[in-house]
Amino acid sequence: MFTETDRLTAIHSCRSCPMCHHADLVTTIERRETYSARARGLTLFAVEQGVSELGAETADVMYRFFVDGLCRQVCAGHIPHDDMVVDARRRLVAAGYAPPTVSRVKANIAATGNPWGEPEPDLRALSGGGSRQNVLLYFGPTARIKRVGVIQALNRILEKLGIGFSVLNDERDPGLLLHQLGEWESGAAAAQVLAERIVRSGADTLITPDAEAYQTFKVGFGETPALAGPAVLQVSEFLEKCVGQLQFKRPKQQQIAYHDPCAFARTATCLDPPRAIVRAISGADPLEIGPWTRELANCSGECGGVSFTVPLLAIHAAERRVQEAKATGAELIVAGSSAAAAMLEGHGLEVLELSEFVAQAL
Ligand code: SF4
Repeated sequence: MFTETDRLTAIHSCRSCPMCHHADLVTTIERRETYSARARGLTLFAVEQGVSELGAETADVMYRFFVDGLCRQVCAGHIPHDDMVVDARRRLVAAGYAPPTVSRVKANIAATGNPWGEPEPDLRALSGGGSRQNVLLYFGPTARIKRVGVIQALNRILEKLGIGFSVLNDERDPGLLLHQLGEWESGAAAAQVLAERIVRSGADTLITPDAEAYQTFKVGFGETPALAGPAVLQVSEFLEKCVGQLQFKRPKQQQIAYHDPCAFARTATCLDPPRAIVRAISGADPLEIGPWTRELANCSGECGGVSFTVPLLAIHAAERRVQEAKATGAELIVAGSSAAAAMLEGHGLEVLELSEFVAQAL
């Protein structure tokens, strides 16, 4: 729960502090003080003091941020900088100053279930999933619309393991994106609807390759609680338990780097299981995209709704991450989530989401 005291503490702390400049992806890409953690604090301090007002300039600063948790991670006081920004976005939405993209994303999710407003696939036909099984797969919006290879890969893996699974007829969106964009009520409502559908499915185990969904189910967001009911597993946590039952081809000789999605790095931590899967298949530990790896992993550009509000900045973040991976000598990036894989694709290095990597080795 982010309280008024937390908000004021964050504003007063960040407004005069440069200590996370080096870790703030936006600051290091834009190379402008205006887009630093200190400037976000100072901007909100000026509003608080009545010397400035919420408006288009405030919105430009607040929506140009990945909400990736890295400032807080390196902050000696663990100041909730991200929550401060997301709260400011909520105020901008209420005051009518959020970028038009925010209401478009909200309308798209309401109309289609995904933020791009794309027609949804027939998930049962695409995934091979049935109904009323103990295991429920929640693929998430990115896998359904932008990375269907993840759905096909998981189908192949579970078929090899002889595990039946069900899928929801209409998965829709987990709500975290709406929350981070400042649409708190819509985000909470989306999460609640999804939670009710999952509980009604009767499954006792929920597996997802979607980092936002995993964060929503495991720790919740805002006032939305974690999912009560089924055990929630990220794909790597599930695979770690049964990787020994799978037969893999001889591994391709290539250098593999693993990319930690922000949610798995810092919010709903899941760091070692994906590395264990890569090791089981390739015979070697994946390369660490150091020093920005594990808890300090840089964002792929897909967090905080930036790919909607400032798409070019999101692309620059993806290019940065791929360059960081290349600098380690990597020839392949294995990404821990569908959204990170979709974001990193197309910047000069082969990219596979973890389930795709596993299915390709079968
Ligand atoms: S998050 Fe911490 S390190 Fe970053 S500006 Fe705020 S107080 Fe400083």
